[in-house]
Amino acid sequence: MSGKRILVLGGGIGGVACATLLRQGLAPEHRVTLVDRSDAHIFAPAMPWLMLGLRRPAHMVRSLEDLKEPAIEFVRACVEAVDTERRKVVTSTGTLDYDYLVVALGVELAPEKLPGLSEGAFNVYEMDGAAAMGAELREIDSGRVVVLVSSLPFKCPAAPYEYALLIDDYLRKRGVRPRIELEIVTPEKLPMAVAGPALGAEVVRLLRERDIRFTNEAAAEAVDAGAARIRLGGGEEVPYDLLAAVPPHAAPRALSNSALAGPDGWAPVDAATLASESADVFVIGDAAAVRLKNGMMLPKAGVFAHAQAKVVAWNIIKAVKGVPPDSRFTGTGYCFLEAGGSRAAFAKGDFYAEPDPQVRLYRPSIVWHLGKLLFEKWWLLTFFSEKKRK
Ligand SMILES: Cc1cc2nc3c(=O)[nH]c(=O)nc-3n(C[C@H](O)[C@H](O)[C@H](O)COP(=O)(O)OP(=O)(O)OC[C@H]3O[C@@H](n4cnc5c(N)ncnc54)[C@H](O)[C@@H]3O)c2cc1C
Repeated sequence: MSGKRILVLGGGIGGVACATLLRQGLAPEHRVTLVDRSDAHIFAPAMPWLMLGLRRPAHMVRSLEDLKEPAIEFVRACVEAVDTERRKVVTSTGTLDYDYLVVALGVELAPEKLPGLSEGAFNVYEMDGAAAMGAELREIDSGRVVVLVSSLPFKCPAAPYEYALLIDDYLRKRGVRPRIELEIVTPEKLPMAVAGPALGAEVVRLLRERDIRFTNEAAAEAVDAGAARIRLGGGEEVPYDLLAAVPPHAAPRALSNSALAGPDGWAPVDAATLASESADVFVIGDAAAVRLKNGMMLPKAGVFAHAQAKVVAWNIIKAVKGVPPDSRFTGTGYCFLEAGGSRAAFAKGDFYAEPDPQVRLYRPSIVWHLGKLLFEKWWLLTFFSEKKRK
């Protein structure tokens, strides 16, 4: 059997997990190559903690040069085009051939799609923006703090609610919360809508208990940084003193320009195997478009990127070994929702259930908070070498 070349595009949650499992499961004659434009792997679930000064970048960023599996070839390059006809990927440093291709390029954050957003808001989906938002939260004494979801879809449906709950807790600890209004503005009908109305209502209840105003079905059309107002469709305006924003998302250009893309740029894939319509090409994580039985899309979240990475890695390993690739992604997932005061809520369920996802929310407790802390440690220690960092 001649050696195969497996290319994994993107060294985020899905790509790192997939490349690691492939390397562990395949004989050395097969090459596993991981391509990313940056060598920084960011553990994004820790970003709200970064905002509050509970993490520094060094706690949550690892270098793709320090992967625990040293035999993964890391290529630092920007993926420019994916040519599934010729089984080639064009990058900024050259063209790479593949026998199997795993696309895990995530999303492009596109703040420019909402006029005024970059000038008027802190992008809390990037580390710099989250840290800068935190610096303002340390100073603000009165006024209005708003968390804005710019548009749908966006990754981690829980994150804006987590930000709002943590901001509330932080401002209470500072003793300034009675003088500050806190609001979340979102185009969603309910929080984490895909998880069903009961779960959404539970999250709304959590917000109400904390006096966080929930403005739903609100489509932002622009941010007027000078006047410090969000302009909504229908002409309504939301004033703010401090604005934390989830920016608009777009499919990665290399994907949306390829034959893998559906009409909206994301790649439609088989819900169980993550196989695209091109032979031996799989798309996992945020870049994939998985339609659920009720017509909604599977949320973009690290927990799914990770689970899908395992399925795809196992199936490629089996295919290379000549064994039927029979691993399946079942649509189960969970997420922690940090609520402040060392407590977190926890949502868990089956997103492939019919006719609708069956997801349950567990009330905030220290147990789930510890769960998230442990998961962070587990992730970084499982995939990255600590020795090299010392
Ligand atoms: C604030 C915040 C909190 C979150 N909290 C949670 C949580 O608690 N639980 C959860 O499940 N999810 C959470 N998420 C979502 C989670 O981080 C993503 O869903 C997950 O990272 C998706 O994994 P992925 O592999 O698809 O993409 P990513 O992890 O985003 O990785 C994509 C990689 O591709 C690279 N890339 C992109 N384009 C190119 C290119 N052209 N060339 C080369 N490389 C490229 C990028 O540099 C990146 O390394 C959170 C996200 C944020 C922002």
